[in-house]
Amino acid sequence: MDTTTSLDGLVCADCEATHDPAATPRRCPDCGGVLRASYDAAAAAVTRESLAGARFDGLARFSDLLPFTADSLVTAGEGATPLVPAPEFAAELGVGAVYVKDEGANPTGTTADRGTALAVTAARDHGAEKVALPTTGDAGQSAAAYAARADLDSEAFVPTRSTFVAKAMTNVHGGDMSVVEGRYPDAVDAFEGAMSDDDNADWHSLAPFDTPYRHEGAKTLLFEVLEQFDWAVPDAVVHPTGHGLGVVGSHLAADQMQEAGLVDDAPALHVAQPEHCAPVVAADDAGDDDTEVWERPDTLIGALEVPDPAGGALALDAVRDTGGWAVGASDDDALEAAVQLNAEGIEASATGGVGAAAARELAADGHLGSDDTVVLVNPVAGTKENDVLRSHLMRKGV
Ligand SMILES: [Zn+2]
Repeated sequence: MDTTTSLDGLVCADCEATHDPAATPRRCPDCGGVLRASYDAAAAAVTRESLAGARFDGLARFSDLLPFTADSLVTAGEGATPLVPAPEFAAELGVGAVYVKDEGANPTGTTADRGTALAVTAARDHGAEKVALPTTGDAGQSAAAYAARADLDSEAFVPTRSTFVAKAMTNVHGGDMSVVEGRYPDAVDAFEGAMSDDDNADWHSLAPFDTPYRHEGAKTLLFEVLEQFDWAVPDAVVHPTGHGLGVVGSHLAADQMQEAGLVDDAPALHVAQPEHCAPVVAADDAGDDDTEVWERPDTLIGALEVPDPAGGALALDAVRDTGGWAVGASDDDALEAAVQLNAEGIEASATGGVGAAAARELAADGHLGSDDTVVLVNPVAGTKENDVLRSHLMRKGV
């Protein structure tokens, strides 16, 4: 097995200290900051041709740009998701083209699979017996599947409101689950309590931005988009945003692709949040460098009800560094936009609808041009949120 990777350390986003990946499973030991992978010259030597010749199974294709070798990755065939044109939606927005990057096509129906693949690989390499995380639901299902693949135990801490599908499939994959009364922050509290229990000293955290690897895995979405456009950089990518893994991953990807000379610039990265749980939007509007806890979150879009994003500051960086915007969308507008994409044959989720509704706002405000190519990320399969989509139709009397 080839065990050489391009990874040469984990660098703290706050204090910039470099740490040994083998000795650093979570955040910066010096200051608690989020850790990001840094790569040696081999990663910068990747070319379009070398990628074109790479194997096409899961994320292994990009292993020269990832912390793990192709052979060592815990994979279930994630990635390589379709980029589907939505010409009717594009015409309505008055932009050049709209494409939906359909992350529902991942093994457990969520973009989280990209990150859990890497984070579970790291957990296995650290000798963990069990992985654990707080989640609004979908990442728990994903973690249970990837843990099963690596022969590890898993435990997801989910709020009661989490979807039936995610809870059921977490158990079906053999994962343990603590269903915590209340909302997502209550699940986070229960997770943190369990992690600090001495009896659980061998648990390995897969919490967003706590492990250095979920945002690393999220990079591969933009890698694929650039390849799917034959290296033409789209004008905009809209990320429905909870903790910020997707948009931060795309920011890291754009930087890495530019450093390797594969593209000359980055797309504008836009954050979309439900307007009644929009801490990144509020912080961006206020000109703040970090998010504040959203006091009364209230949205039907449960996957994005994250009042205290772990990657808030990094998401704001991504938006500002690329000339993007952070936009709130009402639940009704999000559900209507999702239904509209479905009417065009694209199985968007309610979560994906938040990005589509935000794109409509961006177009109306002149932030998307008539020639622009816009990518909407659909983070979760429509089938995983069928109940909230169907309820929306029923309220309209359909
Ligand atoms: Zn630090």
